[in-house]
This record gives sequence, C-alpha cells and structure tokens, in this order.
Amino acid sequence: MQEFDTPVVDNHLHLDPDHGRGLEAVKDFARSGGTHLLVVNKPSWLLGHEVETGEDFRPVFETTVEVVREASELLPGRAWPVLGVHPGLVSKLVDDRGYDPEDARDLMCAGLDTAAEFVRGGDALALKSGRPHYEVTDAVWEASNAVLGHGLDLAADCDCALQLHTESTTDLSDVAEWAAERGVPGERVVKHYAQGHLAGGTPSVMSDKDRLEDAAERGDPFLMETDFIDDPDRPGAVMGPKTVPRRVDWLLDEGREDAVRNAHVETPALVYGVDTEATLDR
Ligand SMILES: [Zn+2]
Repeated sequence: MQEFDTPVVDNHLHLDPDHGRGLEAVKDFARSGGTHLLVVNKPSWLLGHEVETGEDFRPVFETTVEVVREASELLPGRAWPVLGVHPGLVSKLVDDRGYDPEDARDLMCAGLDTAAEFVRGGDALALKSGRPHYEVTDAVWEASNAVLGHGLDLAADCDCALQLHTESTTDLSDVAEWAAERGVPGERVVKHYAQGHLAGGTPSVMSDKDRLEDAAERGDPFLMETDFIDDPDRPGAVMGPKTVPRRVDWLLDEGREDAVRNAHVETPALVYGVDTEATLDR
C-alpha cells in the first residue's frame, strides 16, 4: 500500500463494471497511492445502447453514477462522474445508421441536455463533449462544432467545466473564443488526452514522462490522466489505473513537488472548484 503526502487525481478514466475490471481497477489505483478519480461515462454504443432520444442516454449516465458511488467507498478521497456524449457518435449515426448530420447534432445535443440534468442535481461534476479526432466531411465537422458549442452553453448554464475530446492539437484557441463569448472561464475548457501544454484551455496531460516533464517545466495549470478504458478486448490500448500514482512518485523523486501540487490540488480547485485535500480522509 503506497501512500503519498498529497492527493493523487486521475482526471479522466472509464470504469465498466459489467464488461471490464470495474472496481478492481479502483483498488489498484488506491493501492498505488491514488486518491481521487474523475470517471467519464463510456461511449453509449460500447455499452450496447442504440440511442434515439436524449433520454436514452440516461441509463449510460446512471451506470457511471453508480460505479462512482461504489468507487468512492474504496478511495481515501472520492470519485466524481463526468458525463457527456462522445464526439465519435456522430459517425456512428451518420455512417452506420443513416442520420443526416443535422439530426445527429440534435440527438447529441439532447444527450448533453440529459447529462446537464445530472450536473444541476449535484450528481455529476462536469460535462464532456468535443469533436472528431479523425477526418470528416465539412457537414459533420460543422455539426460537431455545433454540439461542442451546445456543451459550452450548458457549461455556462450549469457553472461547470467541460472536458473535450478533440483532434490532436496544442491549440484550442477557437474553442477558447467560443467559451469566452458564453462567459465560460477559459480554464474550465479541459482538453483530455493532451500534450504537456495547450493554448486555449487546461491540458489534461496523458501521463507519459515526456509530456509530464513539459507540463512540469512550464508550470501552467495542468491535470494528469490515463484514459484507462477498462475494455477487456483492448487490454494494452491505454495506460493502466496505476499509472498516475506511479508518475506522481516519479515526479516527487525528481523534486517536482510544485508540479504535483499544481496537478492534484491547485488545478482541480481552479477548474472544478473541488478541494482534493479537504476530501481526503486518512
Ligand atoms: Zn476517455
């Protein structure tokens, strides 16, 4: 049982109690010194839901809320749900199910509306949206940006952060501008799967050493994540649940206490308004 003198937060991972490791992954995280988790719902189609209305997303979100409740019992800190609609859904709808981009947009916006109800009710911490990371038609790109804009509208309305899945980039200035137009503070736009730095938002840095070194060196606000997908069919596809605690251990060995405080105390407070120290019970 590893223990650090600091909270240790994984800002983006998935738990699939029915098909994956579920709470066993949480135990691995906690045994390695992890304290807090932001658990993002799995894409609706991976849980076998063929969504047709915004309401159809509700069971997807409830699965996450439930596993988060159980995970919190196992953690010295706690877990929080982050709920939203995976931007890849647009292609499932348009390419596989014959939707036109506008109808796909409307369904995805309706799914985000359902997610926002959980945030308003205090059952989720933040929202999740984005746009495809692969080449799409102009119509699909436009529809995706409209969904992302709706995510920002809801983040403004719910006074919460918005995690984004986007193309691989270190510049989201366009999104930062849309956020500013809606009164959403720039730091509340969080790019998941990020490099060590980002213009136009807060990077949630994938926890490999090169990216972390970059983030630590700059000293700007950042978060750390694994994007553990908890998918038994893709065991090596992403980092495992022990990765963030191990990288914290490494950062501390390197004398990077400031970076650890940045990613695990200061930036969670700045972005989500959570106090990871006060919610630590040991
Ligand atoms: Zn993810």
